[in-house]
Amino acid sequence: MARTAIVFGCTGQDGSLLCRSLLAQGMKVVGVSRSSNPNLDTHRKLCIAGEIEVTTADISDFREILELLGRHQPNEIYNLAAQSSVGLSFQQPVDTFDSIINGTINLLEVARFAEFNGLLYFAGSSEIFGNTEEPASTKSRRNPRSPYAIAKDASFNTVQLYRQAYGLHCVTGILFNHESPYRSPTFVTRKIVSGALRCLKERDCKLRLGDLSVARDWGWAEEYVEAMQIILRADDLVDHVICTGRMVTLEYFVDRVFSELDICWRDRVELVDSLRRPSEIRCSVGDPEPMALAHGWRAQRDVDDVIQLLVESARHEGLHS
Ligand code: NDP
Repeated sequence: MARTAIVFGCTGQDGSLLCRSLLAQGMKVVGVSRSSNPNLDTHRKLCIAGEIEVTTADISDFREILELLGRHQPNEIYNLAAQSSVGLSFQQPVDTFDSIINGTINLLEVARFAEFNGLLYFAGSSEIFGNTEEPASTKSRRNPRSPYAIAKDASFNTVQLYRQAYGLHCVTGILFNHESPYRSPTFVTRKIVSGALRCLKERDCKLRLGDLSVARDWGWAEEYVEAMQIILRADDLVDHVICTGRMVTLEYFVDRVFSELDICWRDRVELVDSLRRPSEIRCSVGDPEPMALAHGWRAQRDVDDVIQLLVESARHEGLHS
């Protein structure tokens, strides 16, 4: 019989790519969305719409999730559901906390109550470290600086607690930023790529951005959903950081995107104070060595590849839209 996975947050960037990966392994995949009319655009682009049973459920509702687990008897559960924007979390702290903390603890409680014997993955975030003085690992000091990061930090602790205190097979992959053409257009990387393409067509086009000096460790989402599964299926469940280990500034990112299109970004980018975030993290980079040592996994694509792939994809989409 096919193994079954339940993916919470299945309509998002990672959820969609993960569902595709699990399907390719012959697994039965049940995707969960909050909406009774879920947005399946990414599933359609990835040609997996109809291959997955998409069901509506509230991850914070004990009875609903208990019933869902009872109905599908999954071998693996992936908890990717979240209000995932750091910026938006400053405007919607309650919704962000609810989506991440309540969802995570409810899922863990259901799993404990139901004596769930399968594997449970939680999508952690590099935001829990705040500024990284050196490449961050799970042993690094944590200093969450946004409602989003605080919620992810509390959830990370809770997942550890349920593993240690109740023996649940649950683990966190702490993800550094990762991109793909399926990222929501409101995220800065997508905004830069689509803005640069607009500038190629429109002479007077200006792209408005906040602070370009912030630096991040950017990877490729398709690879990160593979790393999630590696961590989850390991003989020994150990939390890990998933990253490339290379950090560049947003200015570097902008410069490379515009260079791909032969445009000078300095003529086209307008820096706007209102787009700066409160308590912005200045630099964030992970240590790839623990993942390489434990599982032989390293990100194959770094930020230069990410930029090239995003621009290529956006150009292709532009040609066909
Ligand atoms: P997305 O925002 O693309 O997808 C998240 C999904 O969660 C959405 O499709 C949505 O599904 C669901 N969701 C959104 N808001 C809420 C809410 N308020 N309550 C419950 N569910 C909600 O995120 P990604 O795919 O990029 O990320 C996946 C996970 O990895 C997230 O938990 C994110 O925080 C984490 N992460 C991502 C990083 C990245 O660089 N992409 C970096 C670090 C961590 P629906 O509307 O169908 O319910």
